Amino acid sequence: MINLAGKRALVTGSGRGIGREIALKLAAAGADVVITDVDLESAKQTSKDIQALGRKSIAVQADVSSQESVQKLFETCAADFGTIEILVNNAGITRDNLLIRMPEADWDLVLNVNLKSVFLCTKEAIRPMMKARYGRIINIASVIGLMGNASQVNYAAAKAGIIGVTMSVAKEYAVKNITANAIAPGFIQSAMTDKLSPEVRQKYVDYIPLARLGTAEDVANAVLFLASPLADYITGQVLTVDGGMVM
Ligand code: NAD
Repeated sequence: MINLAGKRALVTGSGRGIGREIALKLAAAGADVVITDVDLESAKQTSKDIQALGRKSIAVQADVSSQESVQKLFETCAADFGTIEILVNNAGITRDNLLIRMPEADWDLVLNVNLKSVFLCTKEAIRPMMKARYGRIINIASVIGLMGNASQVNYAAAKAGIIGVTMSVAKEYAVKNITANAIAPGFIQSAMTDKLSPEVRQKYVDYIPLARLGTAEDVANAVLFLASPLADYITGQVLTVDGGMVM
């Protein structure tokens, strides 16, 4: 049984989807959790649901692609919640298009929300972790960052970038007992994959040895493991949660 009592976590993009499931899973294991999302209403709801589990939680609106917004987020956390031991960089978006049709703005937006956010949030979280000589950083990448995908050059670049950042942070801060790992989900049932046509969805399922889409809970279980003492000797790794699609 994993026990995270006494640990404080922050999960970006936790108003809905995979981030919400991660936050609930960490709280169910005993952690107090900061819920942060660009959409404050959904963040408040997740936060309420965590409080109902008997854990401390605050909801903070932040745009993780903005340095100013991320700095304010961590100032609010320090003042109203306490320092963070577990950081889950989950917020992400897609703006799919063929490379030849992709506007520069969509390249920049996807790189900023998915990748720059990991740099900004890690930079804010890491100083107190260094002081405490303890930190667990878990970055949500994607199998697309490992294998590429047509119409997703921006997303694939961002997710591959997250893997590079994860390994670099792991090397830079291992000496302070801070681990950094990435999770690369495959195709997970979510708002993102709900947009797929039934034909495209079936095409993906045909590629998955376990013959189903993953669930947000499948991803959250992997986060829980990496956040727990069971993973104390694991750093700089990419754990695919994809039903065996990439191997
Ligand atoms: P989702 O769209 O359901 O949730 C993303 C959340 O991030 C939303 O609550 C949204 O409001 C928030 N968000 C968006 N932009 C933000 C910003 N600038 N600042 C703060 N919050 C912001 O997506 P999801 O499917 O739950 O995906 C979560 C993560 O998992 C993403 O990083 C995604 O790339 C990754 N992922 C998803 C899948 C999948 O199949 N769904 C597969 C692989 C990886």
